[in-house]
Amino acid sequence: MTFSKTMPTIAIIGGGPAGLATAIELTKKNATFNVQLFDSPQKSETKFGESIPPASTPYLKSLFGKDYARNMKHHLPCPGSISVWGDEQPGYNDFLFQLEGSGFHLDRQHFEHQLRETAFSQGVKWHQGFKLSKLQKFENKVQLEFNTQSRFNHQLDADFIIDATGFSSQATRRMNVARNLLDEVIYLCVSLPIQNQSHLLPQTLIEATATGWWYVAKTPSDTCVITYCVDKSIYKKYALELSENWLSHLTQTRWLKFQIEETIKLLENHSPTIHRRVAPSSILSNVVGSNWLAIGDAASTYDPISSAGITKALVHANIAAQSISNYFTTNQQDSLLEYQKRVFDDFNQYCQLRYQLYRSEQRFRTSEFWKNRTHH
Ligand SMILES: Cc1cc2nc3c(=O)[nH]c(=O)nc-3n(C[C@H](O)[C@H](O)[C@H](O)COP(=O)(O)OP(=O)(O)OC[C@H]3O[C@@H](n4cnc5c(N)ncnc54)[C@H](O)[C@@H]3O)c2cc1C
Repeated sequence: MTFSKTMPTIAIIGGGPAGLATAIELTKKNATFNVQLFDSPQKSETKFGESIPPASTPYLKSLFGKDYARNMKHHLPCPGSISVWGDEQPGYNDFLFQLEGSGFHLDRQHFEHQLRETAFSQGVKWHQGFKLSKLQKFENKVQLEFNTQSRFNHQLDADFIIDATGFSSQATRRMNVARNLLDEVIYLCVSLPIQNQSHLLPQTLIEATATGWWYVAKTPSDTCVITYCVDKSIYKKYALELSENWLSHLTQTRWLKFQIEETIKLLENHSPTIHRRVAPSSILSNVVGSNWLAIGDAASTYDPISSAGITKALVHANIAAQSISNYFTTNQQDSLLEYQKRVFDDFNQYCQLRYQLYRSEQRFRTSEFWKNRTHH
């Protein structure tokens, strides 16, 4: 397949928040890009990650434009968090006084659907069920091959590619770009349908324990998410993949269990499915090259303790689109390097925040989970 030289083809690989937001921002920067987005066949597994802070609001407004209010109506406003962390008494973090207003608890699947609809309406060519299988980089183009659900593979010559495939970074890995791993925690998550959620508070509820920490978020469509963050060794030691063990740890919390008594009763009657998700803190050694860029979790991953993975993807999408636009206008790599600097700076800031957050819990400082997070 060939394209006119005057209309550069930009291939985005990965259709999560990072890939979709970059596609939308690119169509706004330069209507002459041929933006093609390729996403693997959709997995049946539940995607977790639902809390977004008020800081994401300007970026959501930029993406959804006049449909912002209509789209965000589907999600639950989140006024902040209540956490038992570093103290026996709960502490309140209110979003009330933030200029951007409240954050949100997202219906994650529907949020990605809304981003897809927006991208589609802006002229992004969407290829669902296309899994990157081969990549060859030349000086001025990148040759891509995708496995599809048909008998035939799909090939494309792109002028520029964006790796938005999440932590597995399928494109940059094929270019031998190294990933630096700082830490890795395990999240054991349950998504529970609840008919009447009136007993659940709208804030994110958090409690630290000797073995890790919990969070509970009320989510739209009558569901709630309950998550336990632990180390791999703790996960194995207590066989936490078994719902009875996971539940027994939940009922040993000192404050949280009283906030979600009704929910615990439901859990006791239903033996919930425990979804295991690995959450690394990591970053690529380079996030840009002469005709490529990595974004979202493909570039850097944050521990969900930061609640910043999606916001980071949206912020970087906005900057990346501008950098790519400048790159094609000037034919200079400087703007890509500016984007890289921003990704590296944000990661350093995140590392400090993560350290401070874990450090601020001193009650369990001698236990393995907390020692592992606070040793440099
Ligand atoms: C348990 C847990 C809780 C979290 N909680 C929060 C939270 O509260 N708030 C928050 O902001 N963040 C949270 N996060 C992080 C957040 O989910 C991620 O930062 C976010 O999903 C990153 O988006 P992304 O688009 O970069 O990657 P992804 O969402 O991983 O999307 C990657 C896409 O690439 C596609 N893909 C993969 N391989 C290929 C291939 N070979 N070819 C084509 N396509 C491919 C996949 O199908 C997928 O659609 C959480 C994460 C976890 C694990």
